[in-house]
Amino acid sequence: MAGTAARGCSADRVALTPPEPPDGLLGPAAIRELAAELELRPTKQLGQNFLHDANTIRRIVRTAGLAPDDVVLEVGPGLGSLTLGLLPASAAVTAVEIDPRLAARLPRTVAERRPDLADRLTVVEADALRISELPGPPPTALVANLPYNVAVPVLLHLLDLLPTLERALILVQAEVAERLAAPPGGGAYGVPSVKAAWYGEVRRAGNVGRRVFWPEPNVDSGLVALVRRPPPEGDRRATFAAVDAAFGMRRKSLRAALARWAGSPAAAETRLRAAGIDPSTRGEQLSVTDFARLAATDEVQP
Ligand code: SAM
Repeated sequence: MAGTAARGCSADRVALTPPEPPDGLLGPAAIRELAAELELRPTKQLGQNFLHDANTIRRIVRTAGLAPDDVVLEVGPGLGSLTLGLLPASAAVTAVEIDPRLAARLPRTVAERRPDLADRLTVVEADALRISELPGPPPTALVANLPYNVAVPVLLHLLDLLPTLERALILVQAEVAERLAAPPGGGAYGVPSVKAAWYGEVRRAGNVGRRVFWPEPNVDSGLVALVRRPPPEGDRRATFAAVDAAFGMRRKSLRAALARWAGSPAAAETRLRAAGIDPSTRGEQLSVTDFARLAATDEVQP
């Protein structure tokens, strides 16, 4: 017992004062210093939980599977924790940050810690939900520790805006990760799952605990990987409207849930039958391809 306690003790001491990572990544001390310099008070509204664990950064970069010619889009670079890991693994990084103090500090942080890679970085001060174009070469991969309250809309907006994005690896709240990657049929399957599936194959890519963030969030996090594939045949907007309607009343049968969307319960039933879908089932049973087929029945008359 005494031996165990002694080991625990020394492990604790090491954990409290970890050495700064040798590869320019930001450890806890560097994060503290930067935050103090900027007089930063992280806000929940902007989902500001900064990674201060170099092993987690290395793991995210490894899991992203970047090739040397990849152009990475990072949303919310914050103090630069992930950016510093992405720069050596890619040809260029475009980082979109909404907080002006963080956007202004980032080029200097990279110049101080990795001057050899500084010319690979472009920082854009903007709300990622509102961008309509980006400077530089078109991004091929999205890799980001996303602000949790806007993670899904940011992901969907960027996948729609930037068809050159071949894949994404995002860190989000564990519950959102589960929803994004959920297959049809379960309780976690819903609007985010179907809409993300429009763009590609989605899977969970690992769990991330709370202690690697400053400040510590009060939820666990998870990585989600998306690999783009051609979307189902059909119109995206019309399909997404059907998805929203079906999950707006997810406990009801599709016949009832889609009544307003189709014009009446009878019209909903006609369209569901035309798409080969049983009107008594619920939205959570339908795949994105089913929804696309359903949306394409707009010419069918009751
Ligand atoms: N990437 C950093 C890291 O891993 O330590 C910070 C991640 S933190 C979870 C989210 C970051 O996104 C913050 O820097 C925040 O200011 C920024 N942010 C929040 N909302 C944003 C938005 N709509 N567009 C761009 N950046 C945003």
